[in-house]
Amino acid sequence: AKGEGKGRSQFFHAQMDIDYHYRQRLKTDLRDAVAADALTLVFQPLLDIDSRRVVSCEALARWTHPELGAIAPTTFIPLAEEMGIISQITDFVVRSAVAQCSQWSGDIGVAVNVSARDFRGLDLPSLVDRALREADLAPSRLELEVTETAVIEERELAQSVLQSLSARGISIALDDFGTGYSSLSYLSALPFSKLKIDRSFVQDIAGDERALSLLANVARLGRDLDLTVVAEGVETEEQLNAMLEHTGIQQVQGYLFSRPLPARDIAELIGRLNG
Ligand code: C2E
Ligand code: CA
Ligand code: CA
Ligand code: CA
Repeated sequence: AKGEGKGRSQFFHAQMDIDYHYRQRLKTDLRDAVAADALTLVFQPLLDIDSRRVVSCEALARWTHPELGAIAPTTFIPLAEEMGIISQITDFVVRSAVAQCSQWSGDIGVAVNVSARDFRGLDLPSLVDRALREADLAPSRLELEVTETAVIEERELAQSVLQSLSARGISIALDDFGTGYSSLSYLSALPFSKLKIDRSFVQDIAGDERALSLLANVARLGRDLDLTVVAEGVETEEQLNAMLEHTGIQQVQGYLFSRPLPARDIAELIGRLNG
């Protein structure tokens, strides 16, 4: 048993070494990729639940490592935050997303994810002003998504930055709602116009009455606050039907409608669904 224990701990050390070296390598390569403008964007549509028309698209960052292949944003975004280079990524995402949006037919909007670090690391209002001016896009077409965790980590700064963005006509969405803190007091203090309910609330609603009732109640909370309520992660017709019948959810996003797509394909999808 002793020998086994020793072997296992050696294994753990070896594993930690691999993790450590892997992370170091990713960090070095991510720094280079960001400097070389090698990240790309994909877009996923948000649809109006009744008309099934695309109302906006969320921009999501992608990194394809030359040797390791696709690295998930849930891996490289936290690394970028840790390294202090997330602002460069946000700057790139805002400018490219706004430029793409100006190519789309109709008045379809674009949503960009903002990190807690961006409140300190960036002058978001001027970045946004510049991007909108360069693309000649109305502020009402841009939406910024922030998480509960981000606004609570940077409460006062977040409040003033979000107020100034909102005063320009940019909408602010609260992302991943329900996964963060349980205090809801910040909800009325910040200028949100949209609530995106995390997909963990959607997952089990087909065939689980308690899950459906929970989702319906979260949606009602959003409606009572005059927010547009979005369900994330809709994957099946059953989930969609349950939502249509039992919740006041207004917009939906998920693999049922479309995976995130490169710019060229999303423009075609918009044409097909809204044309
Ligand atoms: P998020 O902001 O909640 O984005 C939605 C995520 O859910 C995306 O994952 C999307 O591909 C995925 N998704 C959409 N529909 C479905 C579905 O029906 N089922 C399932 N299982 N998943 C679905 P992705 O692109 O891997 O991004 C993960 C997270 O990484 C994002 O979560 C966001 O927090 C972060 N992220 C991505 N791009 C950016 C960015 O440009 N800036 C920042 N700060 N964060 C980003
Ligand atoms: Ca988001
Ligand atoms: Ca989300
Ligand atoms: Ca998320």
